[in-house]
Amino acid sequence: MNSTFYGKLIFELGKEGRVGYSLPKNEFSEHNIDSLPSSLRRSEKMALPEVDELTVVRHYTNMSNNNFGVDTGFYPLGSCTMKYNPKVNEEISNLSAFTTLHPLQGVSTVQGALEVYYNLQKSLSEIAGLSEFTLNPFAGAHGELTGLMVIRAYHNSRGDYKRVNVIVPDSAHGTNPASAAVCGLKVVQVKSLSDGTIDVEDLKAHLDDTVAAIMMTNPNTLGIFERSIPEIANLVHECGGLLYYDGANLNALLGKCRPGDMGFDVMHINLHKTFSTPHGGGGPGSGPVGVRAGLEKFLPNPHVKKSDDGKFYIDNDKDALGSVSAFIGNFSVMLKAYSYILSLGKENLKYVGPFATLNANYIKDSLKDVYELPIDVVCKHEFVFDGLKDKSKGVTTMNVAKRLLDYGFHAPTIYFPLLFHESLMIEPCENESKATLDDFIAVMRKIAHEAAEDPEMVKAAPHNTPVRRPDDTLAATHPIVTYRELMTDTEA
Ligand SMILES: *Cc1c(COP(=O)(O)O)cnc(C)c1O
Repeated sequence: MNSTFYGKLIFELGKEGRVGYSLPKNEFSEHNIDSLPSSLRRSEKMALPEVDELTVVRHYTNMSNNNFGVDTGFYPLGSCTMKYNPKVNEEISNLSAFTTLHPLQGVSTVQGALEVYYNLQKSLSEIAGLSEFTLNPFAGAHGELTGLMVIRAYHNSRGDYKRVNVIVPDSAHGTNPASAAVCGLKVVQVKSLSDGTIDVEDLKAHLDDTVAAIMMTNPNTLGIFERSIPEIANLVHECGGLLYYDGANLNALLGKCRPGDMGFDVMHINLHKTFSTPHGGGGPGSGPVGVRAGLEKFLPNPHVKKSDDGKFYIDNDKDALGSVSAFIGNFSVMLKAYSYILSLGKENLKYVGPFATLNANYIKDSLKDVYELPIDVVCKHEFVFDGLKDKSKGVTTMNVAKRLLDYGFHAPTIYFPLLFHESLMIEPCENESKATLDDFIAVMRKIAHEAAEDPEMVKAAPHNTPVRRPDDTLAATHPIVTYRELMTDTEA
């Protein structure tokens, strides 16, 4: 990066009196300034950076070059499904016919948008094998909370108020127990077997009339298909509980099998993961929730429905939960997901899961002689190593992850799941070419070799990234989140 810009904030690049843009004359301030109450008027000039246009362009272009994204390199971040986001999705969601809509417009003027919304609800129902979907929730975790609220509303509607326990496997994503707690339910943990799947005997010990639901991720966070689902579904349903499917890993099964057919009652889908919308940095997202027949009426308001004459309308149901989002949810994410589904079509969607699975197994089997593979089975879309096989030189998963950055790869997910000390969780997705996978495998092998030959160099990585190794403990305990705070910090 150009040294003029390296590590600088836009405020530090300015000079008093420099301008980058001339604003049109402000009629409002000339004629009406006196009508503004003095308490609302600025008494001092706002401290904006004073910079010329070219400096602004260079500042932000240099910043963007420091970033890493799916569009710059391989991004095998386990559990996050960082797949390619086709540009056609962006084009569709940027059509002014969509971007200029207002959520309070009359429904007769937004029939096209409601049709997209309605069709996406139907597509997801078919893909999941469930009866109906709401697209209102804004993320996977929000979908979990909404789904659990649906489950509680179902039990309450039957006067069954004692069901306060939610069973969650020890391999679950942290959002599962968190959502249960936020919903006011109690978390009961069930153990995993040594092959990473749910221990059905341990589960049996927890089943009684206090069970509201079991939350399962399938394939689970180890990338392993839960083979005992039919038995688990029978056991949980027999005791009156429902089955919740965390669909964050749906990419592995897309086009191959359906949660509804496995016996699940409620699920969420992360549109931003499986259905290919950009989601680096935590958003934007969308976490639609689907239910089996009989639970539709508990889904949150509002609903988008189609009347007999083919017109679309927005409906509020009196039995519904109330509402969990502003208006009908994150519409631009839905547009991207719908565009993705239509551009692949039924005939190509069915290859997503199998190719994601093939790629993951190819990497796993090409590296398991140098990285520790605690559960050596055929995985689905992702798998977990427990660090390097040779740990004698003290090179950790953190060091391997940092060294990967030097070679231009995003690091895998590290230290999750919590089942192993040195977890390194790799999810390649279906889009990558064999050449990219081979490059990644070669680099991972090279790092294993470096760890043995020159461990201190690996421990000091990264060596050639714009930002070296930040102090993550300090960043977590004393985050500096505003420019002003940074100023006082450096002045101090
Ligand atoms: C990503 C993920 C979630 C949470 O989804 P968000 O959209 O990030 O809220 C839940 N469970 C699993 C298994 C996940 O991978």
